[in-house]
Amino acid sequence: MLYDFMEVMCETSMRHFHLTQAHVEALFGAGVKLEEERPLSQPGQYLSRQRVTLVGPKREIDNVAILGPVRKESQAELSLTDAFMLGMKNVPLRLSGNIDGTPGADLKGPAGTVKLDKGVIIAKRHVHLDTKTASVNDLMNGDIVKLRFGGLRAAILDEVVVRVDDSFAPAVHLDSDEGNAVFAVSGKVTIIK
Ligand SMILES: [Zn+2]
Repeated sequence: MLYDFMEVMCETSMRHFHLTQAHVEALFGAGVKLEEERPLSQPGQYLSRQRVTLVGPKREIDNVAILGPVRKESQAELSLTDAFMLGMKNVPLRLSGNIDGTPGADLKGPAGTVKLDKGVIIAKRHVHLDTKTASVNDLMNGDIVKLRFGGLRAAILDEVVVRVDDSFAPAVHLDSDEGNAVFAVSGKVTIIK
């Protein structure tokens, strides 16, 4: 028996990069830093003003977002539709940050290019929770929950990974294929158990 458990804000992430400072400078020029266009739901995270072109075997996609701040390793998060469009095969479904053995990609910026030797993933859907919200609701990092969506494309999505950290704010993250499939609009989604 499934029952409604808690409501969390739902966000759909378009394709985007996380980049190292060295890669930011290779693409945009020596000494350049990412500039914030607007903050994201997770504290300290932001959409940057800079955009980059992702070059695939079949075609390229320009104007790809970069999320800041910079990270220790560069990473691209695509939808499966993006991967097909680019002609990239075998892009695995992974949690963000888990990029060993993943395919690389070529990036073009206004000041230069970068060849990533790994880092292209399709992000596994997940829910961010701060430590307090997680413990109040008896959820732990790594737990798997389901989401219930209403409306004309009502659906239940399983295999949603719970990610818990003091720095997180409660939010569900879907990629664009998932969000479009259930007609997700910004608002709350119900976690069910
Ligand atoms: Zn996320």
